[in-house]
Amino acid sequence: MGGGAAEVTWRIVVGSGEATAVELLAGAERISVLAGAGISTDSGIPDFRGPNGVWTRDPEAEKTSDIGYYVSDPEIRRRAWQGRIAWFEAEPRPNPGHEALAELERRGRLRTLITQNIDGLHVAAGNDPARVIEVHGTLREVICLGCDERRPMAYAIQRVKAGEDDPPCESCGGMLKSATVSFGQSLDPDDLASAFAAAADCDLFLAVGTSLTVYPIAETVRVAAEAGVPVVICNAEPTPYDHFADVVLEDPLSDLLPRLVSTLGE
Ligand code: NAD
Repeated sequence: MGGGAAEVTWRIVVGSGEATAVELLAGAERISVLAGAGISTDSGIPDFRGPNGVWTRDPEAEKTSDIGYYVSDPEIRRRAWQGRIAWFEAEPRPNPGHEALAELERRGRLRTLITQNIDGLHVAAGNDPARVIEVHGTLREVICLGCDERRPMAYAIQRVKAGEDDPPCESCGGMLKSATVSFGQSLDPDDLASAFAAAADCDLFLAVGTSLTVYPIAETVRVAAEAGVPVVICNAEPTPYDHFADVVLEDPLSDLLPRLVSTLGE
């Protein structure tokens, strides 16, 4: 990937560059978006590292996202299943931020939506699954760590509710887990390659609601900038990649994204 901050000459407009963002958006027809947990906080799903993030409030919660703890500690698995039940019972729905990205696609401007989110809300909002790369997997399915069989999450949740506190795979007896990529697990190399290709081959790169601290996916920002693609970062807090951006906007995404997308013609 090469290169570094010293070579970067991008203009930075932190917090007040909406006019510039509108101009960049107006000229873009093949936009790649990188979304993170911050786009879903207004759907009632806390992020991990924001001020009200799950890990900010309870650092122990990080263990349920670590494959080492998950496979070795039955208590962590029981806790993970209870968390999944609570997650689905809350019935999270897309918010105006997700809807704006679906609108971006309807208007023919979206090339690819790379998402770190596991909540399925981009597709629920109307984005075509063929354009969405869920680099960290999905909470809507379970996978067997033994035989790789996948089933809908609802099937496993039904078993937990019926009394199995850590249900095994019915095909091979292996351990079940949400089909998400935990810390310590490998990312799908095809997904990763598609995400980096989409970052380099687009005419605007928009990073929304991500702290840009999870690697390697955060590096898509650098790859886009080094390919000469204008970069707009929309995030409530500073990120380590802000110096690559033409514009950094800190407004809440469920206001900001509909505002930006509404400036586009049909
Ligand atoms: P993160 O928690 O590291 O960062 C989220 C960022 O979004 C924070 O910097 C926060 O300030 C910002 N933010 C929060 N609400 C916002 C709003 N309304 N408007 C603007 N900015 C807002 O998230 P990440 O970078 O996506 O990395 C977290 C990892 O955790 C990902 O890999 C993801 O798989 C997983 N995760 C997913 C979900 C989900 O699917 N909704 C939720 C939590 C964590």
